[in-house]
Amino acid sequence: MAILFECPHCNKSLEARDEAAGKTGKCPSCGKDIKVPEKTSADTAK
Ligand SMILES: [Zn+2]
Repeated sequence: MAILFECPHCNKSLEARDEAAGKTGKCPSCGKDIKVPEKTSADTAK
């Protein structure tokens, strides 16, 4: 399962692994630092 979120800098839709929740990385589109959000409540409902 993956975390879907948008880059706050370029608004590109990104996908990160669950293990990356709460961690920081670089956006593959704009190259700026981004933080991967925690899992959304909708994901845990499955
Ligand atoms: Zn970006």
